[in-house]
This record gives sequence, C-alpha cells and structure tokens, in this order.
Amino acid sequence: MKKIDVLDQGYVRLVDVLGSDLTPVNAARVSYDKASDTLSERDERLIRFLIRERHTSPFRHAVLQFEVYAPLMVARQWWKHIIGSSHQEGAQDPMTAWNESSRRYVTEAVRFYVPPADEWRSSPEDKKQGSGDMLPVELGEEATKKLLEQIEEGMKNYEWATEKGIATEMARLFLPSAYGLYVRWYWTVSLQGLIHFLDLRLDAHAQAEIRDYSAALQQLAREAFPISMASFEAIKE
Ligand SMILES: Cc1cc2nc3c(=O)[nH]c(=O)nc-3n(C[C@H](O)[C@H](O)[C@H](O)COP(=O)(O)OP(=O)(O)OC[C@H]3O[C@@H](n4cnc5c(N)ncnc54)[C@H](O)[C@@H]3O)c2cc1C
Repeated sequence: MKKIDVLDQGYVRLVDVLGSDLTPVNAARVSYDKASDTLSERDERLIRFLIRERHTSPFRHAVLQFEVYAPLMVARQWWKHIIGSSHQEGAQDPMTAWNESSRRYVTEAVRFYVPPADEWRSSPEDKKQGSGDMLPVELGEEATKKLLEQIEEGMKNYEWATEKGIATEMARLFLPSAYGLYVRWYWTVSLQGLIHFLDLRLDAHAQAEIRDYSAALQQLAREAFPISMASFEAIKE
C-alpha cells in the first residue's frame, strides 16, 4: 500500500483497508434488506446524502489501518482523538486502536524533526492562532542551528547511558528535544473517525504540522473511498 512522506523525515503509510464505498451504502440499507454489489449512481447519491446530513454511523463499518511516523508534538495532538485511537483502559470501541513503538525494548533509530531555516513561524498577535507569519530566514537559520546543537548535546548523554549499560527504558530519559522526537505507531480507525479527525485537523486553526499529516491521510483515504471522501470534501468547501 502507498506511503506519503511528511515533514523532513516523517510519513503516513496505508497498511490495510476494510471495505469500500459500498460498505456504508450497504450498512445504511440494511433495514430495507437490500445490498449492492457494484456502486451505482443511486448509491453515490446516498453517500452524499449521508455525509451531508451527518448520518455518520454507516461509515463506522469501513476501517483503515495506518502506520504513522511523526514528531511527538503531533502524536500528542493525535492522541486526543480517543474515538479513533482507543488507548484508554476500558475503552468501548474495539474496532479502533493505537500501538506505539515504545523504545523500552529496542533502540530504534533516533530521529528528530528539525524545521529548516525558512520554516520557522512567528508568535501571532492573536494567541489563539498558534502561529503568525513566517520569520526572516536569518533568524530561522539561528533557530535551526540552536536546535541541532541541543539535539547533539542530548544525544551524547543518551549514547553515554546506553554504553554504560543503563536500561533502554531509562536511557531514553536523556533523549533531547522531546517534542521533536519522531515516534512510530499503528492507527486503526473507522472511516467515520477519520472524517471527524480530518474535519478538525485540516482546519486552519490546527497546527501546521498536524495539518500536513492530515493532508496525507486524506490523500490515502481518497484512493480507498473516493466517493465518501469527495462527499466530505464537498461539504467542507
Ligand atoms: C485547533 C485545536 C486546538 C486544540 N487545543 C487543545 C488544547 O489546547 N488542549 C487540549 O487538551 N486539547 C486541545 N484540542 C483537542 C480537542 O479538545 C479534542 O480533544 C480533539 O480535537 C479530539 O476531538 P473529539 O473529542 O471530537 O474526537 P474523538 O475523541 O475522536 O471523539 C469523537 C466524538 O465522540 C464524542 N465523544 C468522544 N468522547 C466522548 C465522551 N467521553 N463523552 C461524550 N462524547 C464523547 C464526541 O462527540 C466527539 O466529538 C484541540 C483541538 C483542535 C482541533
């Protein structure tokens, strides 16, 4: 399945898909004891109607499984979507899941998100916006350099700890730039959960980095569920 690169070293990979655009159609028509084998114009109209009227439960029967590699700051925002990532103890939603590489057992390659000099954003006048305009590249160069220096310093301590035989699960405390540290996880989500996620995280109010990941998710989902995604995109316009 396809993989889309995001940011400097991250990616989203579509691992598996359950269902097609026919899945919500047949789920919605179950009460009429009718099922389609191929998607007709009438079925497409039904999908548009379901999305427009927010009759979203039929989309729970279609499921997507992704592998995501993203900085921790993005993962923390993603994690708030509990319906699409039932990491909570006792969660009632067995169709959705989150499993993360923990660095307790193996020393997976350590990578950090380092924005290039021309991608540092200013603090906005309206604090609720998150970021303002792009900063001058000279300041960006300084910021990138400082971040790289900080990473190098922390990595020295991390390597010292592992060489001394300190357990990996404790040595990771030395890993620098925690927000920029890349983490990898599997995310299994229904098409309904994904659409809700995209609704919130493609929005201009969401942080630019998670918007980039959302655009990759959207593109991958489009290939698996073209009519459902086009219907969602139409109501967003
Ligand atoms: C721009 C932006 C800024 C944000 N800023 C912050 C922040 O500063 N701090 C912070 O902590 N979070 C922040 N969030 C996260 C936000 O509060 C939500 O936790 C996150 O967007 C997930 O949305 P959700 O709960 O609708 O999604 P999901 O968890 O996927 O839930 C989907 C839907 O299920 C229903 N639902 C889920 N759980 C329950 C429940 N327990 N009871 C009743 N109904 C439920 C709701 O209808 C919900 O919309 C921000 C989100 C955005 C988009």
